[in-house]
Amino acid sequence: MANQEDVFKKVISHAKEYGYVFQSSEIYDGLSAVYDYGQNGVELKNNIREYWWRAMTQLHDDIVGIDAAIFMHPTTWKASGHVDAFNDPLIDNKDSKKRYRADVLVEDHVAKIEAKIDKEVAKAAKRFGEAFDKEQFLATNARVKGYQEKATAILKRLGQSLEKEDLADVKTLIEELGIVCPVSGSKNWTDVKQFNLMFGTQLGATAESAMELYLRPETAQGIFVNFLNVQKTGRMKIPFGIAQTGKAFRNEIVARQFIFRMREFEQMEMQYFIKPGTQKEWYEAWKEKRMNWHLSLGMGEENYRFHDHEKLAHYADAACDIEFKFPFGFRELEGIHSRTDFDLGSHEKYSGKKLQYFDPEENKSYVPYVLETSIGLDRMFLAVFSNSLREEALENNTTRTVLQLPAVLAPTKAAVLPLLKRDGLPEIAEKLVNDLKWDMNVAYDEKDAVGRRYRRQDAVGTPFCITVDHQTLEDETVTIRHRDSMEQQRVKMDKVKGIITDAVAMKAWLKKI
Ligand code: ATP
Repeated sequence: MANQEDVFKKVISHAKEYGYVFQSSEIYDGLSAVYDYGQNGVELKNNIREYWWRAMTQLHDDIVGIDAAIFMHPTTWKASGHVDAFNDPLIDNKDSKKRYRADVLVEDHVAKIEAKIDKEVAKAAKRFGEAFDKEQFLATNARVKGYQEKATAILKRLGQSLEKEDLADVKTLIEELGIVCPVSGSKNWTDVKQFNLMFGTQLGATAESAMELYLRPETAQGIFVNFLNVQKTGRMKIPFGIAQTGKAFRNEIVARQFIFRMREFEQMEMQYFIKPGTQKEWYEAWKEKRMNWHLSLGMGEENYRFHDHEKLAHYADAACDIEFKFPFGFRELEGIHSRTDFDLGSHEKYSGKKLQYFDPEENKSYVPYVLETSIGLDRMFLAVFSNSLREEALENNTTRTVLQLPAVLAPTKAAVLPLLKRDGLPEIAEKLVNDLKWDMNVAYDEKDAVGRRYRRQDAVGTPFCITVDHQTLEDETVTIRHRDSMEQQRVKMDKVKGIITDAVAMKAWLKKI
């Protein structure tokens, strides 16, 4: 595959062509940054959610789940700081009239510098061959070090300016870096302004009695306001966690990059309530746990990295992102935040209710500190989907498109294919489908030559194809074809379920964490 942009275009068109992701209300030309999941997309999304949910709740006896409403009392958002501080810095280009997030413009500029480093590394790797030591090269090559220093300095200055709310300096930085509008190519920028990302709506029938509400911009606050309900009814002892998945809404200024940045999206969040003073160790522990969760899916260690925040949000005393290598470069996939007692303390203040925990060991009450892990389900979907899509050159000079989804997440685990549409083969295949369908999603396909059917299942990401042929009539064996290796294995029909279940079962994958 060619350049990043082509790869990303291919991801988007493949997602549509194979029933994964559609533009919302497409017949009306769509709605910007809003997407629908199709027949395969919903299965992949459900599987990712379940993989997260089970890792968090089932495998942690100190974490329970809840499902809070999207609508919340409006004071929630005053207390959380969102009314006053949930802003993004925006900037307009006067020539193209296009609007951008000022921080994203700078980050994209830095990504270009990082791409230059990658290029130098690739060049050197070619030159030195087997003797190439990447770490050493990065540490010693003058040009690469120069790029690195430049990138770090830019991000540091951006972080500091945002922290101080010095928007004039953010504009100066954009000017100094010579950043041009990707549409008009000009440097004719407006000043940088703040823009609140929450969607407002109303509750109630008449204008006079209506209450101004917000659609929640994060799921976390539903957990904070239920902290005592869960702690008391579940008799939870600190440290303990509450997990939740659900929709969140943000009026994003720049909504491009497909499902990476949506206006309606889903989050998977977990708040872990801890004793004040223990936040550093829990921060490190959750960084490790969450990275292990990602790595268990086998999508390549080199595609992940931690990125410490320069600019800490109003609630945090330490924060980092787990970044993933998307088709457009490394970007945030998940956030890990040490939120101190900011949220519970603030809800105490605004509600006038005590949100404290009585610690029997310490024999005193306190507002717990919170460690949060927060990942976008749709963004994880994009990570999995884009990482899995491959165009493979085959020996016979053809190529195949294959979606190498981790088998545990694949929408359909197996397709059963009768070699021919006669001689009793479809009947046997249907029987096999009826046997397997109680344990997994299976497909049946009898149309076209078997080679084409394999290609279709490759493209949609089905890890196994089971073919029923004439030998099946004689000895009750079938072939299992493996999507990634394309190898075929002949097995007794009654062994099929066991073989496939072992490979796709969530249990087997969760054990790798
Ligand atoms: P970004 O800097 O990309 O805007 P953020 O730092 O505001 O993200 P958080 O508030 O920490 O994000 O949200 C936690 C997670 O929710 C993010 O890591 C991301 O995976 C996901 N997320 C946030 N905003 C969006 C969005 N608009 N569309 C899809 N996923 C999102």
